[in-house]
Amino acid sequence: MSRYTGPRCKLCRTSGLKLYLKGTRCTSPKCAIEKRNFRPGQHGQNRIKLSEYAIRLKEKQKARWSYGMTEKQFRRTFADAGRTKGNTGATFMQLLERRLDNVVYRMGFALSRQQARQWVNHGHFAVNGQRVTIPSYRVRTGDMVTAMPASNEFLLTNLEVVSNPTAPKWLLADRATIQGSMVGLPEREDIDTPVQELLIVEFYSR
Ligand code: SF4
Repeated sequence: MSRYTGPRCKLCRTSGLKLYLKGTRCTSPKCAIEKRNFRPGQHGQNRIKLSEYAIRLKEKQKARWSYGMTEKQFRRTFADAGRTKGNTGATFMQLLERRLDNVVYRMGFALSRQQARQWVNHGHFAVNGQRVTIPSYRVRTGDMVTAMPASNEFLLTNLEVVSNPTAPKWLLADRATIQGSMVGLPEREDIDTPVQELLIVEFYSR
């Protein structure tokens, strides 16, 4: 299945909570969740009882939409987590957080993961001095993420509107020079994505 290109606010309304997919709009009164906090569609305001399967599917979709991934990418990342020793759910969340587009977003260099993804795709960022254009690139501890010299001015202009520049503790970021590094692996409590990974593990284990 290809990447979803429809209205992002519908994804938030389907999930029933803010997924912060549209940058500054998400914290403004224009946010669709603020205006119409019910499921999209003609019967969106009807009460429904979700089956056990639907609850797990919804949780999986919520996480997938949050990170802007296709089903194939998402499933492959889950398989990677399953092959790693330790808690599959926590490892899965860790792998999602280590995607380069997410790291750029978490460092406060982009308004949303979607924007970070586009900027990575367009070659504005380098990892350890090498240009990387793959948003799913897995960042490792000690990696330096920097803006390409030719993109510095463009990114600095856009950084002025990024409203939440605080990087989580597993990342160090300097917005003045658009440089950052990953100083450790993200622990589950450092990840504020509102998903219950256990339900995702149950979804894929069924
Ligand atoms: Fe979701 Fe942002 Fe749209 Fe609000 S504005 S519904 S948080 S994408």
